[in-house]
Amino acid sequence: MHFEGKEIFKFPAGLENIKKAFKDRFPELIAEIDIYYHHVERSAFVFTQKFIFHNITPRWVGALLQKIANREYYFYEDKTVQMMNDLVFGEGKNEEIKGIITGQFGDYGVMPNKASFLLQGALHMHYAKNGGWYPKGGSEILATRMCECIYKNGGKVLVKADVKNIIVGEDGNAIGVTCSTDGKSNSIYATEVISTIGVVNTYNLLPEKYHDARLKRI
Ligand SMILES: Cc1cc2nc3c(=O)[nH]c(=O)nc-3n(C[C@H](O)[C@H](O)[C@H](O)COP(=O)(O)OP(=O)(O)OC[C@H]3O[C@@H](n4cnc5c(N)ncnc54)[C@H](O)[C@@H]3O)c2cc1C
Repeated sequence: MHFEGKEIFKFPAGLENIKKAFKDRFPELIAEIDIYYHHVERSAFVFTQKFIFHNITPRWVGALLQKIANREYYFYEDKTVQMMNDLVFGEGKNEEIKGIITGQFGDYGVMPNKASFLLQGALHMHYAKNGGWYPKGGSEILATRMCECIYKNGGKVLVKADVKNIIVGEDGNAIGVTCSTDGKSNSIYATEVISTIGVVNTYNLLPEKYHDARLKRI
């Protein structure tokens, strides 16, 4: 992590390594750092448990398990990242360590005074345990290389092509899409149509006759 006019703080991979890096940099806060990482570990654990219980069917079993076996979750449930920072490192104090420790907040995209500590704990833990990676050239390189492969095989990549609807054949299978490029409508047909915009968005692009009141409620 870079600070304007200051040295860099490096986040090493491995939970013990990262704790040590913080303790070396802030020797006056050794006890607080241990407490903070206790909360990071516990919140990451209960967050994962909540996710697992949430997906158990029948739903009432998951809800019951969550209430009985995941009580610790409720300690973190209503706490923001900032609240936990203040709780552990003191309100209005030690702003530098708070800034460094929550510097990854961009990954969940919500400011620390609004984001749940559960999210911070889970995210921080996942980096602390195994470290993080990114491709040389940044994430953009993934799209660049994929496009090269698509063009090499005779394909085409359209950008700013808003898909307005999915074309469905008589047998009920998707056979293409209608998209709008530069204000012009364009129908593209294919043997396979793959959607990566999520279930709800995909559903909304299907012709009205395939809409179902029961599915809409999901
Ligand atoms: C806050 C956050 C942090 C993340 N951090 C990481 C990380 O650190 N590492 C990691 O591996 N993953 C991370 N992910 C997950 C990763 O971003 C996604 O898994 C990945 O982007 C999914 O790629 P995709 O191509 O399937 O979908 P998307 O990237 O969502 O692409 C779908 C595209 O379709 C477009 N679209 C939608 N509707 C239409 C339409 N009607 N017509 C035309 N285009 C349309 C959208 O604008 C979008 O560009 C993160 C996700 C979030 C939200």
